[in-house]
Amino acid sequence: MGIRVCKFGGSSVADAGQLRKVRAIVLDREDRRFIVPSAPGRRTGDDVKVTDLLYRCHKAALRGESIGPDFDLISERFRKIAADLGLDSKLHSDLDEALADIHDRIQNKARTDYAASRGEFLSGLLLARLLDRPLIDPTELIRFDSNDRLLTEETQDCISERLADETCGVIPGFYGAGPDGEVITFSRGGSDITGAIIARGVAAEIYENWTDVSGLLMADPRIVNAPRTIEQLTYRELRELAYMGATVLHDEAIFPVRRSGIPVHVRNTNDPEAVGTEIRRGEANLSPTGRITGIAGRKDFTIIALEKTLMNSEIGFGRRVLGVLERHDISWEHIPSGIDTLSIVLKSDVLADRIDALLQEIQTECEPDSIEIHSGIALIATVGRGMSHAPGTAAQLFGALAKAGINIRMIDQGSSELNIIVGVENADFERTVRAIYDEFVPLNPS
Ligand code: ASP
Repeated sequence: MGIRVCKFGGSSVADAGQLRKVRAIVLDREDRRFIVPSAPGRRTGDDVKVTDLLYRCHKAALRGESIGPDFDLISERFRKIAADLGLDSKLHSDLDEALADIHDRIQNKARTDYAASRGEFLSGLLLARLLDRPLIDPTELIRFDSNDRLLTEETQDCISERLADETCGVIPGFYGAGPDGEVITFSRGGSDITGAIIARGVAAEIYENWTDVSGLLMADPRIVNAPRTIEQLTYRELRELAYMGATVLHDEAIFPVRRSGIPVHVRNTNDPEAVGTEIRRGEANLSPTGRITGIAGRKDFTIIALEKTLMNSEIGFGRRVLGVLERHDISWEHIPSGIDTLSIVLKSDVLADRIDALLQEIQTECEPDSIEIHSGIALIATVGRGMSHAPGTAAQLFGALAKAGINIRMIDQGSSELNIIVGVENADFERTVRAIYDEFVPLNPS
């Protein structure tokens, strides 16, 4: 039987009730062998995440203040979980000891990453006891260099060596160790990355990412009423949708598992029966899909539209334009072009007050006949492996927008035929998403 690595997010470990659900899920399958918890998240809208409290304690200590008030909230939170779960007195004394040690270290100005990581550590302590599995500290498994960059191969070796003889275990998320053995954390939300790295390290059959939503939705539910869940998609489709802001996973969590071809299954701790979303490497492994997999978009792009007669035969025009952007340290998003036109699509916030200097330099370097600026543009990506080699998809999409009276300002189709991106006025953004969804998604699921 293969191995499943299961990561449980902050809401899944937020209180004793949630942890009981985690226990039931883990015990439901023997192959759920390695469990990666986050720190307890919010229980209600106005609650504070344990990690945020830890950052607050650390800041107070640096200011020379007592960390007492915030640290008491953390201690109470873990003690209450332990009591509500009815864990034994040995766990209570281990917890007290760990809390006292962490308190003293943070008060004495321990490093930021150490402070931030303790929520995951304490979650791990409780969960290991609840599941009766060994607690394996990720400082033994995950290695960073002196610039806090993950050492991928060294980490892989540590994991395969250290976990070779472990049949199961609880591995706190979010951190590992630097060259001096000190704790280093990933960026916020980084327990997703830990889970992916462990999954790769043990050559898992599947990486289960348990959260509080039943997977990725076909469109933003704030725009489309009750959109369907995407049951399966490829890593490439996910990348296209995530770029436009639709994501349930930390971006960096994709790479370790994608590289090894390990599927990720996003599932809901509060609704374990729901199918969730499965992300796989190749289309061959997926069941047939409708034309489109999902729609995602973002507002606030700017288009710099350049026109020059005979641009097509002017060698070096494109290079000079991009050279100007490079010198200004500006990354571009898309470059749709025509025979005598070239448009550069950029995020408006990266341009900010640099626009005049940039245009001046493009004018001098490239001597276009005209430069036009269109700001307030929203981009909407319609993504789907089912679109490739399916004649009529673009016609259907543009027809739907025409019917809705939406003016398209820009069109870009990736050569992989995996997506069609349209640019519209910011004000038309929501209408565009709805028009595309209604066109491609039948009202009643078959
Ligand atoms: N606890 C960390 C955070 O709040 C990491 C995580 O939850 O994945 O960012």
